[in-house]
Amino acid sequence: IRHLVLVLGDQLDHDSTAFDGFDPAEDRVWMAEVPEESTHVWSAKPRTAIFLSAMRHFAAELRERGLPLRYTQLQDADNTGTLAGELQRAITDLQPQSLILTAPGDWRVLQDLRAVAAQADLPLDLRDDRHFFSTVRDFAAHAKGRKQLRLEYWYRELRQKHGVLMDGKQPAGGQWNFDADNRESFGKAGPQNVPPPFRVPPDVITQEVIELVNTRFDDHPGSLQSFAWPVTRAETLRALDHFINHRLPLFGQFEDAMWAGEVWLWHSQLSAALNLKLLNPREVVAAAEAAYRNGHAPLAAVEGFIRQILGWREYVRGIYWTQMPGYLERNALEAQAPLPAWYWTGETEMACLREAITQTLAHGYAHHIQRLMVTGLYALLLGVRPQAVHEWYLSVYVDAVEWVELPNTLGMSQYGDGGLLGSKPYVATGKYIQRMSNHCSGCRYDPAQSTGPKACPFTTLYWDFLMRHEAMLRQNPRMAMQMKNLDRLAPEAREAIAEQARAHRAALT
Ligand code: FAD
Ligand code: SF4
Repeated sequence: IRHLVLVLGDQLDHDSTAFDGFDPAEDRVWMAEVPEESTHVWSAKPRTAIFLSAMRHFAAELRERGLPLRYTQLQDADNTGTLAGELQRAITDLQPQSLILTAPGDWRVLQDLRAVAAQADLPLDLRDDRHFFSTVRDFAAHAKGRKQLRLEYWYRELRQKHGVLMDGKQPAGGQWNFDADNRESFGKAGPQNVPPPFRVPPDVITQEVIELVNTRFDDHPGSLQSFAWPVTRAETLRALDHFINHRLPLFGQFEDAMWAGEVWLWHSQLSAALNLKLLNPREVVAAAEAAYRNGHAPLAAVEGFIRQILGWREYVRGIYWTQMPGYLERNALEAQAPLPAWYWTGETEMACLREAITQTLAHGYAHHIQRLMVTGLYALLLGVRPQAVHEWYLSVYVDAVEWVELPNTLGMSQYGDGGLLGSKPYVATGKYIQRMSNHCSGCRYDPAQSTGPKACPFTTLYWDFLMRHEAMLRQNPRMAMQMKNLDRLAPEAREAIAEQARAHRAALT
């Protein structure tokens, strides 16, 4: 055969550059399900299942379209277990003249596949991924010469370049950012009239995958009992429509709010569909902008939503590909604690963490503030090694692919890159969680207390964090307010907090 076109589990896009010039008479598509992708980190069952099911549905579509395909199933007897092994085997069997690959989402996978191509002495045609608005080269050009990278500038550049939410040369509504109008809490009454989530009952293919994952990865975290993620392009288009119609108008207002038992709220739940490349960010952004233009959704909600996709999603990808492989090893705060074992079970008395982790294991999903300001914040304050935190996040979410997960975890959430991605560590006491949720009212701890038997561990560890990193944080003007508050603590109070923090850490091990 002429070209072997490699399609990875997160490249399920019929318009991918890998298919440009594809000739069914001469070329062949290659896809492989391999255990390595579920074991290099301890991948949770929902994450493995969504990838396998989406891959199998995509393979069926390729066959329907008449594209010849070599596909290895996970349970195939001769499956070598790794992407590299499967590619080697395909090369031996099919003797292609060259390999074609759209740039993958993992640095590790790119190295592995490159090594196979080199060993087989085959040219590897690595193509840009036009799924994204920007290329990594665009990002590198933007970053060049800047002392600090900031989302805001990159985001504005992309809005202008792609004419998103622009009225001529001006941003729609005269402002780039409407966050002041967003991010409310629910108040005492809690969320009202939460729209039902968009869920897809598993079809025969998905049911088979669920059985396979339950058998093969029985000891992996998470459950498939309520698995109902969209896994085809047609389903994800319906999910998009559902979000625009039912959730987008209130998305901004409740973007940061949490409530016990409410998993989905007004979030889009589209991250997995986007990261598998079943949905294109352009169509998502266009649908959101149209909802503003036709009066269905307020500008603050639409701008807030578009910033996540056109802004953050493209920004973290640029960071990942310009910083790897060194980024993976960064640990600016020299954090060395292990990840508490209950991150894999949810068995903790801290109500906010219990809620976020339990729902994560049940659904493979938690929204941004749960990830950043509950599970992420606690690990940061405790001083967990960022690589251990990274492995957890890469394992447990259905949308977890390293290019997007790593900068969010190591950079945004753990400040492991020392401020490359964000300008300050996201730290807060338990009072932030109290303000944004109802978790504290059902918790044995009290977010107002930093010492004593009822002290909230977030609050204790917050002050302890400021004390442990005092010298570094004093140099950051964006931390000035928080450091001023630290100055108000008497020496005895400081000592009591440090002692409480020590006791909390000791009780964890
Ligand atoms: P919505 O709240 O509806 O947001 C809309 C879309 O914007 C998302 O679908 C997503 O595609 C995009 N988006 C939002 N925030 C970000 C962000 N910070 N970076 C990149 N894209 C963003 N997102 C992933 O897609 N994969 C991950 O592995 C991942 N890991 C994360 C780890 C940590 C520690 C943190 C703090 C965030 C992480 N995020 C990750 C970003 C964000 O939390 C998820 O994209 C979001 O919660 C997914 O839910 P949603 O689709 O309902 O998002
Ligand atoms: Fe979480 Fe502290 Fe509130 Fe308990 S009191 S729910 S641990 S923030």
